[in-house]
Amino acid sequence: MGNVLVVAEIKDGVLKKITKEMTSAAKKIAEALGGQVEVLMIGDGSEKFAPDVASVGADKVIVAKASEFHPEGYANIIAAVAKEKGSKVILMPHTGQGKDYSPRVAVKLYAGIVADIVGISMDGGKVIAKKPIYSGKAYANIKVNTDVQVFTVRPNSQEIVEKGAAGTVENTSHGFGDVKTKILSTSMTGGSKIQLTEASIIVSGGRGMRGPENFPILQELCDVIGAALGASRAAVDAGWISHSHQVGQTGKTVSPNCYIACGISGSIQHMAGMGSSKYIVAINKDPEAPIFKVATFGVVADLFEVVPALTKEFKKVLG
Ligand SMILES: Cc1cc2nc3c(=O)[nH]c(=O)nc-3n(C[C@H](O)[C@H](O)[C@H](O)COP(=O)(O)OP(=O)(O)OC[C@H]3O[C@@H](n4cnc5c(N)ncnc54)[C@H](O)[C@@H]3O)c2cc1C
Repeated sequence: MGNVLVVAEIKDGVLKKITKEMTSAAKKIAEALGGQVEVLMIGDGSEKFAPDVASVGADKVIVAKASEFHPEGYANIIAAVAKEKGSKVILMPHTGQGKDYSPRVAVKLYAGIVADIVGISMDGGKVIAKKPIYSGKAYANIKVNTDVQVFTVRPNSQEIVEKGAAGTVENTSHGFGDVKTKILSTSMTGGSKIQLTEASIIVSGGRGMRGPENFPILQELCDVIGAALGASRAAVDAGWISHSHQVGQTGKTVSPNCYIACGISGSIQHMAGMGSSKYIVAINKDPEAPIFKVATFGVVADLFEVVPALTKEFKKVLG
């Protein structure tokens, strides 16, 4: 018997989709362990999201007070709640915030951690976590040997399964505690209108875009289909688009339902960042481009003809 603790991601007053994805995954684990799913929400007023996670299997929602994000403070709260509740498995989001506090949580609990997992299965009381390795060229299945098992979960990698549960709300008095750093200010870099790491559709442009003046044709397609705008490093290094859009080994790791690569050859380093996308559509005029080896659908053609035609058709269909 063991309970599973999920740490919710709430940003700018919005409950992020990864929370429901993790809660659904936690339900499967809790059923195998004969335990409960407890979702920890850090942030004033976050109890309003309890029905959202109850609908996907949260038995309990634990609310901690916090007026701002602080990685040390969050780690203190998570570790204290996990100890109090006797959590055996802890799922945290593999996002900017989660990557910051999750290793601290593992240290505080003397627990083994596997980061950036994309698959979960069970072996008795242990989670078998599937994780991409070697820049996404292979997968490793990893078991954590410690009593408490800690994981960070890649956004968009887990299916959301509606499964109603009680979702009773409980407040915890655990707070930031003794933190040794103070965040003086935070500033956002310019990024796409939709967060790349959370987007379910991404349209990316590479060197084949020829220049910054052509990126608006991709942005227009993004606007019509609700996609985020990505780029290869070649396009970023050329100064055509900011680094916050870069996908790949030295950019962002994404896992959308659909990744549309326009004028991108498909280098190992680019594929390290988007190889786990569910559907990959490649538009490239070179039939030998490596991207076609991983593409679900390939279009061998000039992107300057295909992209505007796609936008036009989607506009007709979607309005
Ligand atoms: C340590 C390291 C880290 C790296 N990290 C990253 C990373 O995070 N992300 C990343 O992307 N790269 C990364 N790279 C760079 C990577 O190796 C490639 O150089 C880069 O991905 C190439 O970008 P590209 O596909 O846009 O350009 P290219 O490889 O030049 O490909 C351009 C493609 O566009 C096609 N094309 C041209 N014109 C058209 C047209 N009109 N219509 C259709 N297709 C057209 C061409 O056929 C070609 O296939 C890294 C490299 C190193 C060494």
